[in-house]
Amino acid sequence: MNIQATERPASHLFYVTRLRRPLVDRAEGIYFWTEDGRRFIDGSSGPMVSNIGHGNRHVIEAMKRQMDKVSFAYRLHFENEPAEELARRLAGKMPGDLDRIFFVSGGSEAVESAIKLARQWAVATSQPKRWKVISRFPSYHGGTMGALGVTGDLALTETFAPQIQPMPAIPAPTAYRDRDNLTMEQRGVRYADMLEEKILAEGPESVVAFIMEPIGGAATAALVPPDSYFPRIREICDKYGILLIHDEVMSGAARTGRYLGGDHWNCKPDIITLSKGIGSGYAALGAMAASAKLVKPVLDMGGFQHGYTYAGNPLACSAGLAVLEEMERLGCEANAAAMGDLLKSALEGLSKRFPFIAGVRGKGLLIGCDLVADPVTFEPFPKTQATNQRLLDIAYDKGLILYSRRIRGDGAELDNLILAPPLIISAAEIGEMVSILGDSFEQLAHELDL
Ligand code: PLP
Repeated sequence: MNIQATERPASHLFYVTRLRRPLVDRAEGIYFWTEDGRRFIDGSSGPMVSNIGHGNRHVIEAMKRQMDKVSFAYRLHFENEPAEELARRLAGKMPGDLDRIFFVSGGSEAVESAIKLARQWAVATSQPKRWKVISRFPSYHGGTMGALGVTGDLALTETFAPQIQPMPAIPAPTAYRDRDNLTMEQRGVRYADMLEEKILAEGPESVVAFIMEPIGGAATAALVPPDSYFPRIREICDKYGILLIHDEVMSGAARTGRYLGGDHWNCKPDIITLSKGIGSGYAALGAMAASAKLVKPVLDMGGFQHGYTYAGNPLACSAGLAVLEEMERLGCEANAAAMGDLLKSALEGLSKRFPFIAGVRGKGLLIGCDLVADPVTFEPFPKTQATNQRLLDIAYDKGLILYSRRIRGDGAELDNLILAPPLIISAAEIGEMVSILGDSFEQLAHELDL
């Protein structure tokens, strides 16, 4: 069968809003093949999901074996071995005493769970006035109403304003863009201090938590804060008795060269959210980690007043377990670090050739940059130009999938770009990816006269 998009019947999927895409046929490693015979490099692991790559036999066989035994058993009726074992293994990867795991089916659910755990903890510990979760702008923490409340992206929240409980937010630490006389480390402290200012403005007794990505994702394209940011944030949270939530949905699961993004700075948050790479696309899986100390008062209240039907199901957990085993067997953390260095220096090289590529950053295989009209002032391209969409389309036509968004933070708009192939990528495949990337930038510069 070889069906062209134009010959296919009309789609009933209403998220297909733009042009029709080719039908995907199969995938292996870093590649997809479509029914019309084309090959694509998965340069973004989908939306930073397929960390161990596609078509992994160990995961497929583990899931088949689990399905032969039992695919679904409700957590209130039975315990199951894959969930128990995966929780045990994940607990071993968490920092400090974060050894209690709560499974969900995705990143938004993980964030909802973190917000609700923080709030119920406040009630359970006789601090009922604490309910605000401070976040950052721009940021992305999920598409459900609670997660949107802590998401700093007006393009995604504005329409739903009446339904959303918007939370206070501080600027993301985009220190690389600042033009002042401070050192990076001074800027890191200054951005962290904004949290204290916000807590004081809101009233410390009303704030329950602060949520942030240790290394930024969709909204800030691999933003790496200065080192000084992390200890100061921890200090401020401790000073006011506020829980620190690290959203590691994108930066976790070895993506940045360490199991957690926060591991680069030995961070010890109170709650961690995970998804994407922990299921690596084989199953819809997410998790939240917290300490027994935090969870106990909540359980003593009669239980965590929260949960989802598919949480901790044996099939998704068997996938998660096999993904973790493969991540270790294939040395994904070390490979992400080594290949990330290659990819980052290649992008730095390209930024010298194409001045519209600015602020190259990231760790491991979460590499990002901004696409700007002026690399010194970071002046954005006009919205009407749709530069990032054109880049996505050009690269797609050449067989490379990229991830790029136009972010609308607090008034400012900016196009960004993320490079995040599967963590099993080889040096030769990086070379292939960079070559198509270079050709795509070349065509973009030519077409838009950049
Ligand atoms: N948190 C972060 C940091 C994310 O990047 C995302 C998704 O991109 C989410 C939460 C929401 O995850 P999901 O789309 O699986 O609900």
